[in-house]
Amino acid sequence: MNTPRAEVVVDLDAIAANAAALRERVGRPLMAVVKADGYGHGLVPAARAVLAGGADQLGVAVLEEALALRAAGVSAPLLAWLHTPGTDFAPALAADVEVSVNAEWGLAEVVDAARATGRTARLHLFVDTGLSREGATVADWPGLVAAAARAQDAGEVEVVGLWSHMAYADAPTHPTIGAQVRLFDEAVGLARAAGLDGRRHLANSAATVALPDTWYDMVRPGIALYGLDPLGGDPAVHGLRPAMTVRARVALTKRVAAGAGVSYGHTYAPATDTTLALVPVGYADGVPRAAGNRAPVLAGGAQRVIAGRVCMDQFVLDVDDAAVAPGDEVVLWGPGDGGEPTAQQWADALDTIHYELVTRVGGRFTRRYV
Ligand code: PLP
Repeated sequence: MNTPRAEVVVDLDAIAANAAALRERVGRPLMAVVKADGYGHGLVPAARAVLAGGADQLGVAVLEEALALRAAGVSAPLLAWLHTPGTDFAPALAADVEVSVNAEWGLAEVVDAARATGRTARLHLFVDTGLSREGATVADWPGLVAAAARAQDAGEVEVVGLWSHMAYADAPTHPTIGAQVRLFDEAVGLARAAGLDGRRHLANSAATVALPDTWYDMVRPGIALYGLDPLGGDPAVHGLRPAMTVRARVALTKRVAAGAGVSYGHTYAPATDTTLALVPVGYADGVPRAAGNRAPVLAGGAQRVIAGRVCMDQFVLDVDDAAVAPGDEVVLWGPGDGGEPTAQQWADALDTIHYELVTRVGGRFTRRYV
């Protein structure tokens, strides 16, 4: 048997069950966010899993992701929202991809494509209610709404969504939440008065688990689908199970004397004579360099912090007197129920968020679906 050197194992049943749990919790349509290669879990497999779990629609950032889903035969309603000037929307309209616009110039480009193809674009209008990222500012919103209403009257677009994104949903008592909801309601009121209906959607994962007032007509979670707690705690509290396990096989073990400098710059040296184990994955594979001397892995029956710097292709563990041999399994992170660290533990150790870890792991890992 060819034992994988390093693999990311993705539990598709967990993704489907997470989608079902969220859908059941909110009791309304769910747009499952599968951008960034399904948050590192695989775009098409993740999409199929969330749809199997009852997701009503898919969301991705860029058109390439949407067209890749269509090319794979995924026919569910699908929104792509991040576009640059000069985008040709014709392939998106031909593939029945819904698009979002932030500004009148973006709307004009969608209208051009609608005219060129003779299709009606299914459109979401994005209002910036306080994240200061995508979306029309409150000042620019009336102009965008008026232009969209004209295009809708002309049959060029159909406004099917009105939406915004939250800055602090992971801090459920933060005062910006109420302020964003109020601005969103006002923006929706203005659009409705101009004859635009369409589903209102605001809630990301954190809001989906913690803020029912933000659920509106549809929720739009990403990270929670993959079983990670958007609030940084235990996902089981929300009925979620982590879907990703990252593991590798030990490539080499060796005995070294106390004080031996380990890896580049000798930032680690064992206090006693010990056994070192070489793990053949590194920062080129998405294991952050910052994990050196900080992040734990499961090896030889215990969690051990990576010894010294993470290199491009490998890192070293001090496995002490544990019986670790070449070929043995090392688990970087997983659901946590087998004694392995979780992605949340890594995020805490690295002062980052689990989103960054799961979306970046890749490189030369093989991906296996179970
Ligand atoms: N909506 C938008 C516009 C996003 O950019 C994202 C992800 O960053 C999401 C929804 C999903 O967010 P989360 O993964 O926190 O649920």
